[in-house]
Amino acid sequence: MQNIPAVPVPADADERRRKPPVVVYPVETLPPADLGLLARARQNLTKVGEVIVPPRDARAFRVPRGHFFRIVSIEGAQVGDLNLWNAGDLSERFFSGKTRALHATHVGTGDRLWSTLPCLRPMATITHDTLSWYGWDEDGAGVHDVIGTRCDPYTNRLLKGGDYHHCCHSNLTRALAAEKGMSVREAEPHVHDVLNVFMCTGFTRDTHRYFMKASPVRPGDFIEFFAEIDLLGALSACPGGDCSATHSSDVAACYPLKVEILRPDAESLAGWNPPEVNPYPRTHGF
Ligand SMILES: [Zn+2]
Repeated sequence: MQNIPAVPVPADADERRRKPPVVVYPVETLPPADLGLLARARQNLTKVGEVIVPPRDARAFRVPRGHFFRIVSIEGAQVGDLNLWNAGDLSERFFSGKTRALHATHVGTGDRLWSTLPCLRPMATITHDTLSWYGWDEDGAGVHDVIGTRCDPYTNRLLKGGDYHHCCHSNLTRALAAEKGMSVREAEPHVHDVLNVFMCTGFTRDTHRYFMKASPVRPGDFIEFFAEIDLLGALSACPGGDCSATHSSDVAACYPLKVEILRPDAESLAGWNPPEVNPYPRTHGF
């Protein structure tokens, strides 16, 4: 908010401001993840695939339901922008906004990544995060946000002018196009708001503006997910590197990221059932 003309403050302004906050979504009534079962299942994992995401670029990967995947920091501090789709239907994809509303601005172990309407079901559950110690720092920042959208060449053009082709949006578009045999024009509308893996962000205390600061991630750190449905993923190694200063350019030091696909012992998932799509009948009162 800026340059707002002064308006009179009502006499009961303080009283109005003192109303208690109410959490919008009581997630206690959501279908719970069986975190005990997943904690046991992740004790015995076999690596069945690995993808290296080059710096300032993206790669796609597939994770069968009932498998785990890890996004691993290698070589240096690096932020990753993650997209997820139902491997069989690109119209069902990660719903960053609802995930934020259900869980928080930043996600961690036990939180779930929800899919878009009308499916609205957990696509993945976060089962481990080596940065969980970070919590909230003195600036109010945390890691792994679902606030930011992804760096993109359109915003960059508005803000700075010129065309930069290695923003996460473009990287994800190229990766999806290559994976699906699409043109970039066909792939682009499927790219969506991301999970900002390892990114350290918050809102400034005075004006609530979105800020970033150096990611605390170090080589060896990882965030781990359990695939609740068959997933097609794409991960971009953001041109911002650790996002300590800038993005949407070749200025920052950038490093690769690794994606590992991990299979648990089949018997360890006994009792787990993949989530069904949301049962709302889609009649909308009509
Ligand atoms: Zn980016």
